[in-house]
Amino acid sequence: MSTSSLPSSITLRPGAVRDAIVDRLVRSLGKSVAGATRRDFYDALAIAVREALAERWIATRTRVTQAHVKRICYLSMEFLLGRSLINALSSFDDGLIDEVRETLLSFGHNLEEIAAEEEDPGLGNGGLGRLAACFLDSLATLGYAATGYGIRYDYGIFMQVIGDDGAQREVASSWLGMHNFWESGRGGIRYLVRFGGHCKSTRDDKGRVQYEWVDTHDVWAVAYDLLIPGNRSPTVNHLRLWSGRAVTPFKIEEFNHGNYAAAVADQIDAKNLTRVLYPDDSTPQGKELRLRQQYFCVSASLQDMLAQHLADGRGIDELERAFAIQLNDTHPALAIVELMRLLVDDYHIGWSGAWQMTRRICGYTNHTLLPEALETWPVAMFERLLPRHLQIIYQINRDFLEAVSAKYPSDMDRRRRMSLIAEDGDRRVRMAYLSVIGSHKINGVAKLHSRLMRETIFADFAELWPDRFTNVTNGIAVRRWLKQANPGFAQLITEKLGSAWENDLEDLERLKWAVDDPEFRQRFRAIKLENKKRLAKTIELLLNQKVNPEALFDVQVKRIHEYKRQLLNLMYVIVRYLRIINNEAPDAVPRVVIIAGKAAPGYWMAKSVIKLVNNVARVINSDPRVGDKLKLCFLPDYDVSLAQEIMPAADLSQQISTAGMEASGTGNMKLSLNGALTIGTLDGANIEIRDAVGEEHIFIFGMTAEQVTQRRAQGYSPAHVVENNPELKRAIETLDSGLFTPDNLADSTTVVDRLMSDGEHFLVLADFDSYAAAQDRVDALFRDQDEWGRQAIINALSMGPFSSDRSIREYADNIWGIKPVI
Ligand SMILES: *Cc1c(COP(=O)(O)O)cnc(C)c1O
Repeated sequence: MSTSSLPSSITLRPGAVRDAIVDRLVRSLGKSVAGATRRDFYDALAIAVREALAERWIATRTRVTQAHVKRICYLSMEFLLGRSLINALSSFDDGLIDEVRETLLSFGHNLEEIAAEEEDPGLGNGGLGRLAACFLDSLATLGYAATGYGIRYDYGIFMQVIGDDGAQREVASSWLGMHNFWESGRGGIRYLVRFGGHCKSTRDDKGRVQYEWVDTHDVWAVAYDLLIPGNRSPTVNHLRLWSGRAVTPFKIEEFNHGNYAAAVADQIDAKNLTRVLYPDDSTPQGKELRLRQQYFCVSASLQDMLAQHLADGRGIDELERAFAIQLNDTHPALAIVELMRLLVDDYHIGWSGAWQMTRRICGYTNHTLLPEALETWPVAMFERLLPRHLQIIYQINRDFLEAVSAKYPSDMDRRRRMSLIAEDGDRRVRMAYLSVIGSHKINGVAKLHSRLMRETIFADFAELWPDRFTNVTNGIAVRRWLKQANPGFAQLITEKLGSAWENDLEDLERLKWAVDDPEFRQRFRAIKLENKKRLAKTIELLLNQKVNPEALFDVQVKRIHEYKRQLLNLMYVIVRYLRIINNEAPDAVPRVVIIAGKAAPGYWMAKSVIKLVNNVARVINSDPRVGDKLKLCFLPDYDVSLAQEIMPAADLSQQISTAGMEASGTGNMKLSLNGALTIGTLDGANIEIRDAVGEEHIFIFGMTAEQVTQRRAQGYSPAHVVENNPELKRAIETLDSGLFTPDNLADSTTVVDRLMSDGEHFLVLADFDSYAAAQDRVDALFRDQDEWGRQAIINALSMGPFSSDRSIREYADNIWGIKPVI
């Protein structure tokens, strides 16, 4: 094709895919078709797809403005989006992706390989960030007007590399290294965010006190938008991410005096604000930069919300009908205070009116009961960074404690317990309490978690305001976790049902007949085997380790944390290994145990677990007596893209947290939806998964949350447990012998010492007997391949309630009070 024959603007659409790709290659990238690399094809396609989405995006904004519907501001410090290309392509409902695939083939390229050119934007740590991404997908698919707000970290979550010693090393990774075509810089959208300074109060002409926040140090927040397409939907929403820029990027006088460093210092400071995501999952570090990030995100987002509201020509008193704000955990809790500041100081609304409005607008989602995960900030840090906000917090607290005293006169201890300011030790602001007090609804993320939340950390508040507490069980985006991750299975379902299930997972119920259909079962198993072969190739590529695709693929993938109990899994792997080499398990079912996940760089025990897993793996995988009977594979750098490969290949899903500690889990849902059977404790959403699939189709073991509490109260003694289980004892002794860690015995003993310490908080070994017995049931069932397949299908088809579409509808109806635009 000669370049001059190209028409002026070719929208990517059926029938024009080839022209559109060539057009972007030549015109946008300046590449000839013959000279184009795989990366060039990726870039050309990404540009073409983004442009096609842009039309739907503009139309969505027009519809939203005209319809005057309430909009959602979903505030989150993390969004773990995963790659965009295939997600965007498959959102068009006219077979566009098939034509793209064929066109690329004609150029000698494979769509999946092209898509893998994209850097996974890892702007989150784990479950909480991925939930936010699934929610944005559902909001767009269901046609709600919603904007995600977050931070455009230059460096998202680190890349995990495993060293020769088996230990995790963190490598900084910028998702912006290659130009990212999915985001558009919105240079015109920027807001000043202020820090520091001090407060002045004056009286206005009516004698009312007015507060002024002066002598501040200011930074620009500039907007970058990432498009969020709804699946087979006219809606395209966006995720707006803020990046820091200096007010005076270059100080020419400093430069003229020969001081280049001082000339650019402000710009460096401003950019440092959004340079890096804190890599701690559920344990905040309490660093000043983190508080700055939180305020930066919140302030820019609220200014943006108000600017849109006023641009729509609506009055400030209408705000609560126009917007709802959802706080994804306490990280954006300052939104409550910032909204008060804007309403009271800038819009001169009376305090109590502003407070009512703020509370009606904000909702708070709690994600954890772990005491160490509940954010508090030193009052002194607030005073220095956000002096006006501290004043507002004090005022909110005074009003609140007055109401508490009115209801519970002379209960001083209750006042102390419920205060926004913790007075023990250095004075701190309790962000979770602020979130509760400033929200009209507070939700947990699974039924058990919501109940425990009411009974434990927020008991006093639930007593005061029982109606404000509710539950919305988490869910997952069906598009990413089935349609895109498992195209074989998705196609099989569509062949039988049509494609409505993509946007209505409950539709899978209609396939229940297929459970007893031999042809369907045979096809399901063939698809699973293909997925396992693909993962086996990836494992060989990553670890140089061959695995047998016919073996049971036993998967535990999630952040490494003591409460998630990767060590329970590891102890059982060691027990199996010792059975094999002692000829005690002649008919053991061959297993490939797959573990993946990152540890927070400062979480020493989690890093020790990774190192030990790798050391144990080295011994097991190279022992000729073991062969195919057992392989242990730690896959490095778990992220959304790797998860999309692992989920469809799993037979067994390990969800084995200490009961009462995993708020919900969403990995459990992804695996079950892809036809893995769960071995799990009665924790988080596992309980609801059990109810959905039926207790005969899930391997439940271990103590309940109540039993965990009791056991801790009684005083748990691991030594006693080990003494009564000879296999467990042998495993501990083997670790202590240094068999797995010949170079450094301490790599084993530090972990063993933790497991064996009196009162060990996560009760790992206390659940071992019950876990091992459940694993025996797993083996027994897997020997009957047909029955295993049947139960796997039952699991997948029962996942209707775990779509994030269902979660979002519940938020929309019970918390936000919104209707779709379409
Ligand atoms: C789903 C997901 C998680 C959450 O997994 P859990 O098992 O619920 O902890 C974490 N990280 C990634 C990359 C995910 O896709």
